[in-house]
Amino acid sequence: MEEAPVSLQEMLRRALTAQVELGMGEMIVKSEGERSGDEHSQERIQMVKKSPETVDLFGADKKIERAPLFDSLKAHYDAVYTCQLCPLGQTRTKFVYGVGSPEADLIFIGEAPGRDEDLQGEPFVGRAGQLLDRILAAMGLSREEIYIGNILKCRPPNNRDPLPDEAEKCLPHLLEQITLIRPKLICSLGRIAGQILLKTTVPLGKLRGQWHEFEGVPLMVTYHPAALLRFPGYKKDLWADMQTLKKRLDELRMG
Ligand code: URA
Repeated sequence: MEEAPVSLQEMLRRALTAQVELGMGEMIVKSEGERSGDEHSQERIQMVKKSPETVDLFGADKKIERAPLFDSLKAHYDAVYTCQLCPLGQTRTKFVYGVGSPEADLIFIGEAPGRDEDLQGEPFVGRAGQLLDRILAAMGLSREEIYIGNILKCRPPNNRDPLPDEAEKCLPHLLEQITLIRPKLICSLGRIAGQILLKTTVPLGKLRGQWHEFEGVPLMVTYHPAALLRFPGYKKDLWADMQTLKKRLDELRMG
């Protein structure tokens, strides 16, 4: 999608929204419509109140209770796709928001867009993405019924690992997506995504093979499809993970 120029006021509103998402205060930002008295276009941006159980995003072992800040993924996308919260906003070709069903039961989360994703604006469309599609098909799932996103929405130069500051600035976007979608399960792909979501430096080998939790949603950490392309020996373990994931998904779907 084309990036429309944004006014200074709109840039300020988005920056403040991001601050709120990061847990730095509570406020109500009036949209143009609200100032002009149009009730239907009112936009209220409120952070979750802090209490002993609800603390900041990046604290360890903490649970966040959140209400969505936007009405829909589309409204959220429209508000953030011109994001300039980190320097990757200057180097990206396209903002890679995410793809799939807004009502997905399952979300896959990768690390960051690569070259193909940066050019096309869609996650996992390169070689690793094609392998992910084959894995999904083997599980009896399709891209359309699940959701696929990344920790970072913009491609890091030369596909380097996300910097802590980039992940910190970008994570609120993913949090809002998860809050809007309300999946039953999350599956993170690769070490980096798993470690960032779980705020840990525990190696992937130790994160695999057990259920974790992110925002109250059961989270599985498994290999990144790109790792399988390099090390086909991981296929057996990945397939075992996918069977565990599908079994739990089926159980949850049956209620
Ligand atoms: N690798 C990722 O982690 N995400 C993508 O979208 C593509 C490749």
